[in-house]
Amino acid sequence: ASGLMAGKRGLIMGLANDKSIAWGIARALAGAGAELAFSYQGEALKKRVDPLAAQLGSQLVLPCDVGDGASIDSLFERLNKEWGKLDFLVHAIGFSDKEQLRGRYAETTRENFLMTMDISVYSFTAVARRAAAMMPDGGSMVTLTYYGAERVMPHYNVMGVAKAALEASVRYLAEDFGKDGIRVNAISAGPIKTLAASGIGDFRYIMKWNELNSPLRRNVSQEDVGNSALYLLSDLGAGVTGETHHVDAGYHVVGMKAVDAPDI
Ligand code: NAD
Repeated sequence: ASGLMAGKRGLIMGLANDKSIAWGIARALAGAGAELAFSYQGEALKKRVDPLAAQLGSQLVLPCDVGDGASIDSLFERLNKEWGKLDFLVHAIGFSDKEQLRGRYAETTRENFLMTMDISVYSFTAVARRAAAMMPDGGSMVTLTYYGAERVMPHYNVMGVAKAALEASVRYLAEDFGKDGIRVNAISAGPIKTLAASGIGDFRYIMKWNELNSPLRRNVSQEDVGNSALYLLSDLGAGVTGETHHVDAGYHVVGMKAVDAPDI
């Protein structure tokens, strides 16, 4: 894949540490020759993100809390000043009160519902609009979603409702920006042990279930997601937009396992 992204510049949002899905994607992109900028949520994360960015040859590490429109504006002002244009955007951000990522969806509070939708759904639309304004020659954007948007998964609750809205936003944004040669897609990743995932109830059980029941009989890695993102963000994905692409070892196609399937 080396050279596939040569001459292309993009912003990675949502890197927290070396377990982040954003890190798998960033490595795949840098390996293919892309030049990267990173945004991080708060000062506490800067000391984690700086050295990771440096490993991939990036010095452009900027703060952005997506819950704050002014913070998003200043990120894009800085990027505009540094680069002027952008070829791709990765949005790997989601958040909900972890007390509500267990038990029943029915108990979700209005306050947490709105906060989850704001950070996990609206933020993609807000950054996509600003990124598109920096893509005069076309571009590609990817966000991260999960199967809990389509089917009920234990404990995913309000996050599943938010991901369903995120996937719908991907389709609307694909139409809005399509005539400008800008593609918008989502990757629906299988469960991966990250900081965000550790907030979800029984997460280890969910991982084990996926490993035993997916067609490939394994979980996916950061690298798997990174390589699929590379395809969607590069010209290899030129004909693809508005899509939710499953990188989940095939788990989403399974209805029921045969009686002779491995023990569950
Ligand atoms: P992670 O904890 O490494 O990343 C989540 C990121 O969101 C962090 O970098 C955090 O700083 C950022 N974030 C949260 N609130 C923010 C705010 N207000 N402003 C700016 N940034 C904010 O975990 P991850 O699993 O890599 O999550 C990345 C994306 O992948 C999320 O959208 C998540 O829902 C999605 N996803 C994860 C899995 C999984 O199993 N880990 C599966 C499918 C989809």
